[in-house]
Amino acid sequence: MPEGDTVYRATARLHQALAGEILLASDFRVPALATVDVAGYTVREVVPRGKHLLMRLQPPATANPAFAQPALTLHSHLLMDGRWDLYAPGERWKRPAHTARVVLETANAKAVGFEIAQVKLLPTEQESEVVGHLGPDLLGPDWDAQRALDNLRADPQLGIGQALLDQRIMAGVGNVYRSEILFLRRVHPLTAVGEVAGLPALIELAHRLLVVNKDRSRRVTTGQPRTRDPLWVYGRASKPCLRCGTRIGLLRIPSASTGAERDCYLCPSCQPAA
Ligand SMILES: [Zn+2]
Repeated sequence: MPEGDTVYRATARLHQALAGEILLASDFRVPALATVDVAGYTVREVVPRGKHLLMRLQPPATANPAFAQPALTLHSHLLMDGRWDLYAPGERWKRPAHTARVVLETANAKAVGFEIAQVKLLPTEQESEVVGHLGPDLLGPDWDAQRALDNLRADPQLGIGQALLDQRIMAGVGNVYRSEILFLRRVHPLTAVGEVAGLPALIELAHRLLVVNKDRSRRVTTGQPRTRDPLWVYGRASKPCLRCGTRIGLLRIPSASTGAERDCYLCPSCQPAA
């Protein structure tokens, strides 16, 4: 699953290529938007909100206010496999055309959203309908560590492994960071939030890890970008712990919101069950 830093980078690339540009053509290949056309709209900005990507569109100017169109937001969530690619006009796509869900064209670029599971177009003033449920964004202008802490403490029985992926508590942590944060803080993923020592430090660590990785293409939590092991535990099941040599274990933890199970890696020695 793309994490906050991945969405942040995708957003920055799209913003750089499209902001200020007029859309010359649009092609929505999702049933709900099949007849929608936003040609003539100008891309005002592209911003991340947790793992959600918001592209804000300014309507074409009109002399008669009675015909004025609302500003729109194209909302997309990358979920597991979604991604936005940028191409020069006429450049061959690197992915199969049948997996494209949205194609937006300006004079200089073509932005193609592939395998995006959720695409919505809504008035910008109603954005909160799609992102209003999110907690403070680790990489957003609204980041608020105290609010994240208050949200976490609101449900002390919840397992910390579930809580970290709950975007309503704070937005931006995905599977990879969850495992890494818990390893670095020596916390077992099934520990109840109320039993976790040093919650403020855990939140501070989550923030720091996302910030230092936001402009990197390779995610590093060990501080060793050039080694074979940029991560402490994620994806390393049954390999030796980089700190103590114990074999790394794997837990499947259901999501608090959807119930879908996600892998969580841990070192049973460094992170003993409470
Ligand atoms: Zn260990």
